[in-house]
Amino acid sequence: MSNLTTPAGGGAGPGPTAGTGLHIQDLSKTFSVGRKEVVALTDATLHTDKGSFLSLLGPSGCGKSTILRILAGLEKPTSGRATVDGKSPTELRRDHELGIAFQDSALLPWRSVESNIRLPFQVSGEQPDDALVKELIALVGLQGFEKAKPAQLSGGMRQRVSIARSLVVKPSVLLLDEPFGALDDMTRQRLNVELLRIWTEKPATTLMVTHGISEAIFLSDQVAVMSPRPGRIKEVIDVDLPRPRVPEMMRTPEFHALHDQASELLFGAGGAAVE
Ligand code: ADP
Ligand code: MG
Repeated sequence: MSNLTTPAGGGAGPGPTAGTGLHIQDLSKTFSVGRKEVVALTDATLHTDKGSFLSLLGPSGCGKSTILRILAGLEKPTSGRATVDGKSPTELRRDHELGIAFQDSALLPWRSVESNIRLPFQVSGEQPDDALVKELIALVGLQGFEKAKPAQLSGGMRQRVSIARSLVVKPSVLLLDEPFGALDDMTRQRLNVELLRIWTEKPATTLMVTHGISEAIFLSDQVAVMSPRPGRIKEVIDVDLPRPRVPEMMRTPEFHALHDQASELLFGAGGAAVE
């Protein structure tokens, strides 16, 4: 476990700074499927500070991805508002503030690893930062695969390319939809620690969807637990564990108490899974 680095400069990490951050106000989304209406999300309200890390936990179909897709400008809300640092999804896209890694990694199959990671520079018309591209390839453990095409990689490796690509623009807003869902536990843990390190160096206002209670608590300032049908925010748990976070903290009573609180909200007091 040599990678358990504290952030450059040590100290308690930057933490969230006061500011506008994530503002989701009474957000609702109803999809029309044929003659039927599917209520994906009702009156979701979430507020975070600029540069803070919020995770969304909840059973399948409760509207987690819908929130992220609205913030990414891929869906329009039926009602309500979503802004980050005072900007609408359209403005965030226009200003290249967004780093996005979704579960289906959506790499361009004809491009190499390197060239997929460089893509956001081309999209934004910026000069590619080749040193950063190299650094990110090393960070996600893909050295030696720079010239490989997505079809030559495993699912987990493709996911790591997608994470590197989301970080290459040094986004001020990071949207992660189950970014490590397809990975084995060890890789997942290592990437969580790396993600934390990268985020600590440049804290983007982050919204991450995950199924992992431990990983949500380990990474986040706040964990929002959602309930299904119709999808709504049930409760927001403040994670007051100090930063910098190290994996050893996952064995403390404070961590276990937060884990119990989240499990109870998700599965009920008996601990039985509803999913
Ligand atoms: P989660 O990410 O929490 O699993 P989603 O946000 O993907 O949930 O979906 C919430 C609900 O909205 C689900 O019932 C899903 O079937 C429905 N839904 C999502 N996208 C669409 C769509 N494009 N058309 C119709 N229904 C959708
Ligand atoms: Mg989803």
